[in-house]
Amino acid sequence: MKHYDVIVVGGGHAGTEAADAAARLGVRVALVTMRADRIGVMSCNPAIGGLGKGHLVREIDALDGLMARAGDRAGIQYRLLNRRKGPAVQGPRIQADRELYRTAIQEFLRNRVGLDILEAEVSGFILSGEAIEGVILHDGSRLAAGAVVLTAGTFLNGVMHVGPRQEQGGRVGDSASNSLADMLREIATGRGRLKTGTPPRLDGRTINWDVVERQHGDDCPVMLSFLNRLPLVPQISCGITHTNAATHEIVRENLDKSAMYGGFIEGVGPRYCPSIEDKIVRFADKDSHQVFLEPEGLNDTTVYPNGISTSLPADIQERYVRSIRGLEQVEILQPGYAIEYDYFDPCGLTRTLAVRSMKGLFFAGQINGTTGYEEAAAQGLLAGLNAARHARGAEGVVLQRTDSYIGVMIDDLVTRGVTEPYRMFTSRAEYRLSLRVDNADQRLTPLGIALGCVGPDRTLSFNKKLEDLNAARNSLDSGKFSPNELAAVGINANRDGVRRSALDVLTFPDVTLAQIAALVPAVEDIAPEIIEQLQKETLYSAYQDRQQAQLEAVRRDENWTIPVDFDFSAVVGLSNELRQKLNRSRPETLAQASRIEGMTPAGLALIHLRLKAAS
Ligand code: FAD
Repeated sequence: MKHYDVIVVGGGHAGTEAADAAARLGVRVALVTMRADRIGVMSCNPAIGGLGKGHLVREIDALDGLMARAGDRAGIQYRLLNRRKGPAVQGPRIQADRELYRTAIQEFLRNRVGLDILEAEVSGFILSGEAIEGVILHDGSRLAAGAVVLTAGTFLNGVMHVGPRQEQGGRVGDSASNSLADMLREIATGRGRLKTGTPPRLDGRTINWDVVERQHGDDCPVMLSFLNRLPLVPQISCGITHTNAATHEIVRENLDKSAMYGGFIEGVGPRYCPSIEDKIVRFADKDSHQVFLEPEGLNDTTVYPNGISTSLPADIQERYVRSIRGLEQVEILQPGYAIEYDYFDPCGLTRTLAVRSMKGLFFAGQINGTTGYEEAAAQGLLAGLNAARHARGAEGVVLQRTDSYIGVMIDDLVTRGVTEPYRMFTSRAEYRLSLRVDNADQRLTPLGIALGCVGPDRTLSFNKKLEDLNAARNSLDSGKFSPNELAAVGINANRDGVRRSALDVLTFPDVTLAQIAALVPAVEDIAPEIIEQLQKETLYSAYQDRQQAQLEAVRRDENWTIPVDFDFSAVVGLSNELRQKLNRSRPETLAQASRIEGMTPAGLALIHLRLKAAS
């Protein structure tokens, strides 16, 4: 029997990061997946990043993971979401060429020393008491391992639905993983069913692009990886169109034929990726929804219509899609569908993503109740590191809520569990002013270097960046200037007698680099990206104290009683999700409210403020 230190089951976003991370630590790794040619496939939308998700991608990159680098090789459109808001809530997002992304991931893995890729279905585990010792493949052969990471995605007992028609499968073109699902029922607790859906794919040659709006990428694109500066492939634009009253009518009159609304699905779907059926039912007052027409690649005419995922029968899909402006003559290449799959309550995991009841077994990705490539990849990376360390007999690595969005996500999952698909948002992080995309490397790369998962190229460029930042910080902080001295170069400061450094005034409104150079001439030798980074640090350092004070106040008052007649619907700024959940569970104290699944630190702060105002 062949022996590996770590076996990773699954070649999706979690599995590829897990396998690569474990191999970067220098252990022998096997990535076992059903189809090697499907490694790195994006099951749903051709996009990576976004709000909250972009933070995860940057953190994966800071630990030298694959997603950001592969994303940049495939990035055919770059947009920094929330560009007009503060850097803490901005999210880099790319439109990805599916083929280029898959090729990049496969190439990274092929070149990773110590990593074998095996094409096979894992149908069971080799167990010894309450410890795992390897996996059993479908042909009966066995592989031994010190640790196993399971990243089976949407494949465990996967059932695809198009209207009333059902078919077993992990996603279109892939079989379901049923034998393994049966075995897991016996060894893992907290099994549940979740569902997700995808829209029909369109033939872009049959879209009337002349009548739809165009959405271009940013003029100054922000890369996903800290290692890249400019797009690596040609850039494209997307289209925007809208559903209308006729579309809604077609969907409404056929709701009973939808898998979801016809009662064919028991799993709970992702709240923030509603299907077109959900939109028409939940937002009945809206007569139009945006549809983004996203090309799937540079040499691919397939278009992904983002915003109209569905489980209606194929003929109804064709009718409602063709009712949309620009899509009147469109040909559907592949109907949309919903998929239902098994997941396991992540409360059964430790914060290293180890399964509590089975030594040496780790779970990562969709199997833990999350949704999204980025959430899966981030868990995969951590599980891979921890599996490698387990195999070596080393302590597990835990990321904290204070140092990363990965830490926030894992803490949320293992302490509160999941009853609906979990996705990342910036509002989930209480320390979001310090957990920014721009400083993910400063937060995590030193840890990655210490663990041994960051390669020499990144170590070199990171150390150089730190040196440049320190030198620039020292230079800008070297002298202090009175309000009069600042006024002499055109900088308006409070006439309070306080002497300020060039660093202090870097974020003053309308201050120019020429004015700063008049105070500290050496600033002209500092690279623009270093100045920009210092501006962000300075901007947020003042707010971080306020953030800390607010968090401490909520913690101090967590035993405050919430009156029985407290109206959660009247708390301004609280999301509908939280209003619903709070009204349903009626917590009696702030501490109880904080433990509700989906409760965010921002939401808790709003309730705290309201209680304070009423007291
Ligand atoms: P996956 O990417 O699903 O990869 C699982 C891997 O495990 C595959 O390589 C598979 O071959 C392998 N595998 C499974 N079982 C075995 C076995 N027994 N032996 C060997 N290999 C095995 N996310 C969103 O954020 N928004 C959406 O709207 C959305 N819609 C989706 C719609 C559909 C139809 C599907 C299928 C997925 C959708 N997703 C969506 C989810 C997204 O695809 C996942 O979040 C992400 O791919 C999860 O990554 P993963 O690595 O956990 O699993």
